[in-house]
Amino acid sequence: MLNPPAPEVIDQLNRPIKDLRISLTDRCQFRCNYCLPAEHVDVMRQQSQPEKHLSFAEITQVVQAFAELGVNKIRLTGGEPLLRKNLSTLIGNIKKITGIDEVALTTNAGLLDPVLDDLVNAGLDRITISLDALDQDLFTQITGTNVKVDNILRSVDRCLSSRLKQVKINCVIQKGVNEDQIIPMLAHFRGTSVVVRFIEFMDVGNINGWQPKQVFESQQALKLIADRWPISPKPPSNVGEVANRFEFDDGMGEFGLISSISEPFCQDCNRARLSTQGEIYTCLFATQGHHIKALINKPIELLEAISQIWKQRKDQYSSQRKNTTAKNKLPKVEMFVIGG
Ligand code: SAM
Ligand code: SF4
Ligand code: SF4
Repeated sequence: MLNPPAPEVIDQLNRPIKDLRISLTDRCQFRCNYCLPAEHVDVMRQQSQPEKHLSFAEITQVVQAFAELGVNKIRLTGGEPLLRKNLSTLIGNIKKITGIDEVALTTNAGLLDPVLDDLVNAGLDRITISLDALDQDLFTQITGTNVKVDNILRSVDRCLSSRLKQVKINCVIQKGVNEDQIIPMLAHFRGTSVVVRFIEFMDVGNINGWQPKQVFESQQALKLIADRWPISPKPPSNVGEVANRFEFDDGMGEFGLISSISEPFCQDCNRARLSTQGEIYTCLFATQGHHIKALINKPIELLEAISQIWKQRKDQYSSQRKNTTAKNKLPKVEMFVIGG
């Protein structure tokens, strides 16, 4: 007889667990200045221990446990997830798990073209491609790669003509750096089903040297956009949605604004994160993870450990950011270690 399903777990602020983001590697071939600046790449090299990365079989077991506790959405991220070989095998395995409705991927798309068909055939449902500028020089300056914007745009087009259910673009806006890309980016993708999301530059990790004055607030972005096109707000598509959604009044599609700094959304946060080395993080801005690797071959203990971690969760970093003083600031985990 099958075991009865575990009851849904709720954290200390009454938030269920619905979304698991899995960092498949803490390495990346890009050097985005807001995430892994070239001058700090030694931090990645020192921290990364590829021999300790969870195997696909181990990740699948962790997803199984999370699914039993209520998770229905999986996002594969990193570092750059496409640096892991044979990703389609992992996607196929996760798709077989009861309760998982959706597998999504966040990628810089530099290595996407040759593997896209395999990923889609394995069951990938959605993709988010990071693209911070259409202007080639600016893109190169921000990302520190020699990848061509045209190649990324071609990959976006291929995604659009594939069976993927949704294609999104993540565009991190840094004040004084790339706010002039907001209108060109929307002008380019308007009229397609691509949803561009403009993300406020966040104080994730330590090495990006984030300062409040580098944030271009969503309200400023919204004003720029509303001055150019008539737009209207759209209701959230689900509880815990991170983006405020808007649509063009002429029916040419939608875009989103992710305002972690100016308008925190911790109250509905239902996301857990799994690091490459088998730690669970309950907040993007955490200073510490919970090691669960040793429990991976013990399904009952693994389930109980994850359940306890979630039940004790109180995280609401963004809502409390203003109260964080230099005194209570501990080093935070880097974005390339736990993914977006
Ligand atoms: N390498 C992949 C990529 O860039 O799409 C996946 C990992 S990356 C850490 C996930 C997302 O986090 C990307 O869209 C990236 O732009 C975003 N990101 C990284 N650092 C950020 C920061 N400090 N503030 C806001 N977004 C950030
Ligand atoms: Fe790499 Fe993504 Fe971080 Fe850029 S944002 S450095 S692509 S992990
Ligand atoms: Fe969730 Fe932490 Fe972000 Fe708040 S700050 S929305 S708790 S990940």
